[in-house]
Amino acid sequence: MSEVLILGEVREGSLNLRTLELLNIGKNLAKDLDGEFSVVLIGDELPAAASEALSYGPNKVFKVEHALLNNFNADLWLESLQQTVKQINPKIFLMSHSFIGMDLGPRLACRLDTRLTTDCIDLSINPGNGPGEDSLLLRTKPVSGGNAISVFKCPGVPQMATMRGNVIKPAEAAESQGEIVDIVPKIDESIIRVESLEIVKEDIIALDKADVVIAGGAGLGDEDGFEILEDLTRVLNKSFNNVMIGCSRVAVDKGWVSPDHQVGLTGTIISPDIYIAVGISGAIQHLVGMVQSKKIIAINSDSGCNMFKVADYGIVEDYETIIPLLVKKLEELS
Ligand SMILES: Cc1cc2nc3c(=O)[nH]c(=O)nc-3n(C[C@H](O)[C@H](O)[C@H](O)COP(=O)(O)OP(=O)(O)OC[C@H]3O[C@@H](n4cnc5c(N)ncnc54)[C@H](O)[C@@H]3O)c2cc1C
Repeated sequence: MSEVLILGEVREGSLNLRTLELLNIGKNLAKDLDGEFSVVLIGDELPAAASEALSYGPNKVFKVEHALLNNFNADLWLESLQQTVKQINPKIFLMSHSFIGMDLGPRLACRLDTRLTTDCIDLSINPGNGPGEDSLLLRTKPVSGGNAISVFKCPGVPQMATMRGNVIKPAEAAESQGEIVDIVPKIDESIIRVESLEIVKEDIIALDKADVVIAGGAGLGDEDGFEILEDLTRVLNKSFNNVMIGCSRVAVDKGWVSPDHQVGLTGTIISPDIYIAVGISGAIQHLVGMVQSKKIIAINSDSGCNMFKVADYGIVEDYETIIPLLVKKLEELS
């Protein structure tokens, strides 16, 4: 029996980064339970993605294929997933805290009459040392706007959780002795309640792919401040592959930048090689999104601000003074 099952997500034919992270944590949980670990994939053509999933060492990859599953449709995917999870009957079922996981997770938990914990940052097995101990899933997640961390334990089968991205390492390729199992869900068009009229490719930025993030906050004063950050981005792009603009929530709330640039609890969680925080005070809700960056550089006019407590390097200065000087120096060096 598969003790631990994860939902893999496929983008343009291959597994996305969130799936690789789930593969890692799912494998570790199965090891702790001394049980099997499996992946379920949903779509219309999955041979390549299923082989890719197998290369990370799960015992089984369940390939749930149907012509109607070509694009994400919550009604069809939910029904297919429910049938599959009931058939496999795992002890633990995990999804990423992605749009798919957030859409399907609560409804699936309701249909399976179990409990779901969303947006977890860690998962482990309750040690269960003695008689009556339960070996339930311990679900760690931030609460109270990120000011505290709670660990939840709930009954129910399967034990369900969605996992936040970028908080665990992706799985590495492993020896593969597993098998691919085909499942054909019993679905038809009559269960579709939401019709998809058009798939619009959003021009969003993927902050979690950046090597360097230059983030601006309320201290920039207005949206023109981001043009000064763009100058720094342009010059750093000569030395780094992927330099992107991030921001605090205040900058989004004020309408200076679009929400896909927001770093933090309600934005993107990132861990770039370099994070440059400009005019950002370092509220806890911002820090949880960037504190795992390899090097943190803070530019702030207030030497007492919280951001300096997590920074590797700090510059106490008005950003409008220091950034043009930095740009000039970097241009001279490049
Ligand atoms: C449930 C919840 C979720 C949240 N989620 C997020 C989230 O995901 N991300 C997020 O960022 N926030 C989030 N917040 C908001 C968060 O609490 C803070 O309000 C926000 O991060 C503050 O943004 P800031 O640092 O840009 O602004 P401020 O706290 O106002 O800081 C501005 C900083 O700029 C400095 N400064 C001013 N002028 C200059 C200058 N000329 N040069 C250099 N420095 C200057 C100041 O010294 C100050 O440190 C959330 C809040 C809640 C309650």
